[in-house]
Amino acid sequence: MKRKKTISSNIGYPRIGEKREWKKALESFWKEEITENALIEELETLRLKDLQKQKNLGIDLIPVGDFSYYDHVLDTAVMFGFIPRRFLTSEKKSHLQTYFDIARGNKDAIASEMTKWFNTNYHYIVPEIEEDTEPQLTENRPLHYYLEAKEKLGINAKPVLLGPFTFLKLAKGYEQEEFKSLLDTLVPLYIQVLQELDNAGAEWIQIDEPILSTNLTETDLKQLKEVYQQVNNGCPEAKILLQTYFEAVDHFEDITSLPVQGIGLDFIHDDGVNLASLKKFGFPKNKILAAGLINGRNVWRSDLKATWNQLETIRSKVSDDQLIIQPSCSLLHVPVTTSSEEEVEAPLKGVLAFADQKLEEISLLTNGVNNGRKYIDADVEKQTKNLESFWELSHRRNTEVQAEVETWHDKEPTRNLPFAERQKVQQDYFNLPLLPTTTIGSLPQTNEIRQARSRYRKGLQSPETYEDFIKAKTSEWIDRQEEIGLDVLVHGEFERNDMVEYFGEKLDGFAFLNYAWVQSYGSRCVKPPIIYGDVHLPEPMTVNEIIYAQSLTDKPVKGMLTGPITIFNWSFVREDISPFEVTKQIALALNKEVQHLEKNGIHMIQVDEPALREGLPLKKNKQTQYLDEAVYAFKLSTSAVKNETQVHTHMCYSEFGDIIHTISRLDADVISIEAARSHGELIADFEIFSYDKGIGLGVYDIHSPRIPNVEEMEKSITRALRVLDPHQFWVNPDCGLKTRGIEETTASLKNMVEAARLVREKQ
Ligand code: GLN
Ligand code: ZN
Repeated sequence: MKRKKTISSNIGYPRIGEKREWKKALESFWKEEITENALIEELETLRLKDLQKQKNLGIDLIPVGDFSYYDHVLDTAVMFGFIPRRFLTSEKKSHLQTYFDIARGNKDAIASEMTKWFNTNYHYIVPEIEEDTEPQLTENRPLHYYLEAKEKLGINAKPVLLGPFTFLKLAKGYEQEEFKSLLDTLVPLYIQVLQELDNAGAEWIQIDEPILSTNLTETDLKQLKEVYQQVNNGCPEAKILLQTYFEAVDHFEDITSLPVQGIGLDFIHDDGVNLASLKKFGFPKNKILAAGLINGRNVWRSDLKATWNQLETIRSKVSDDQLIIQPSCSLLHVPVTTSSEEEVEAPLKGVLAFADQKLEEISLLTNGVNNGRKYIDADVEKQTKNLESFWELSHRRNTEVQAEVETWHDKEPTRNLPFAERQKVQQDYFNLPLLPTTTIGSLPQTNEIRQARSRYRKGLQSPETYEDFIKAKTSEWIDRQEEIGLDVLVHGEFERNDMVEYFGEKLDGFAFLNYAWVQSYGSRCVKPPIIYGDVHLPEPMTVNEIIYAQSLTDKPVKGMLTGPITIFNWSFVREDISPFEVTKQIALALNKEVQHLEKNGIHMIQVDEPALREGLPLKKNKQTQYLDEAVYAFKLSTSAVKNETQVHTHMCYSEFGDIIHTISRLDADVISIEAARSHGELIADFEIFSYDKGIGLGVYDIHSPRIPNVEEMEKSITRALRVLDPHQFWVNPDCGLKTRGIEETTASLKNMVEAARLVREKQ
């Protein structure tokens, strides 16, 4: 047998289990249905099974320490003793209970903040660095998992840690000037962890520094070099693989010459930049290159011929014994395995690759390098054929849609009249009072509603009975909204499970699987739809529900749609055409829906874009294009309406400053944004940029069950009116109300309407 030169590796494996066993175990523990020991045992079984599975799939370097009870950033914080003081009570709690308290809050202390992990839909817990906390090593977590794999399975695994640089960059609670001194206290602790791992026999240790894929400053770079010099001085023996992902590294030569033994690069989401840099600068002879060649962010099987070409380019610069083949990032971001999906049609199933199938591809490519391309020729051919015939499938294609997208290639979608003029037309048409009151769309989805939907989906309830039930709820809430005194009503979204899934199920070109879950935050998983074909609207999606609601009242009822960027960002998307092409197809389908609504007498239409901000590329030089395309798609969805038709949009975040121009360019007549928790900061943004269109800064926080009183909302409105004109201001909560109860919602909205009335009187 030939000596094995190139090594296969994985960066991280999904935690959730093939059938979400992880989620179920955690939630049973939280509900006190199982004991802590039972939870620990159950998750150990799952973890070991997943390690064994990776081994069976032919992976040489199997990651450990990527497993988590909640989130890997929180794991790192706790390991280094960053436990916010509010969680250190005198009450006797287990280590694990305190850990969950930080993530989820408890009766006395609010949870740590949660935010998106780079440009993904995974959320991490933001580490809090408090004054006077001396970092300390509370446990060597990766060592624990390393020894477990060795003792129980005989696997010499690769421990994974989140690197000190990225960790501190993601943390909050310190001043910029303190960054360096914090690093200085943290690095010796990392060194201790690494020494212990090295002593225990770890062959490779992976340190994740995804922050290296963002734009670094000169100071960052200098500090980074110091950190890894220190690490190298502290444990020169350990073999460290510095792992980057999600983008190219900007300072290729600086990064590849850091004093570590291996560098991991993403060759999928780098737009060819990493490969170009490799060609230009070469690669140090004394280091290993861990090449991310299989897409860890999407669900398609690889075009192995193209991958092989990439591999050949890489091999022209690094020798085979310098090479590791691996996914582009942790497989946390894709579902576990396609083998559970028994109901999917064969052609689609044949071209899908979830975590396990991606590991198979890695192992195949590694075999190809080690045994010669011939050895894998047949497999490569077969996969290429599968993919080709899938992309050729006629039912994926819709020539009408393609032709229609084509007609837009040199046109700019715009409304008939500029905002200032259509504003007058709309004012005459709707005759709304000053400071109109409304909500964001969804109303309480009670257990009764969820159960009815689930019965209907399982075929236990007839479509007619279900429809009548939804109508009854809508009618009940139209009455309630009138009684509360809101000016613009909504139908309540009772028929919707999820704001993307609902539309995906009605549009052509989307597939839904049964087990294709990915972790979003904590135990919460999402099942993104898969856009595999041309997107087309076969028939109206929302008209029946809205016109029914409108028939019950003289007040305007807003139509309610999810926008093209959000549908795109929250799906797994085909890769045979450009992302912008797909977005335009979705936008055109929505454009038709908007026109259906208008034809049926609905003249206020909200198109939600809560995911616009999260899709912002990590690299500054790509942001303009992304935002331009987002604006285009939004306008393509919404511009073909009459002047009196008022387009609304909603976004769920308050870091607004950097994209406020873009938001204005969407040309929506009214925007509502989440602002209740950061009113002060947001208003400052408006002092700098004068926004001229209708705007509702959420006047209360719907994420808490607390009922806000009239006075506080009155203050909040008054404060906003110091900067915004009363003629442009709308009064609304800061997001949809589906997670809230009926009583609290009614009481909160009554107070909100009263607050608006009081401020209105003073104008
Ligand atoms: N219209 C949606 C709702 O109210 C908006 C949800 C969101 O912003 N994420 O539920
Ligand atoms: Zn929202």
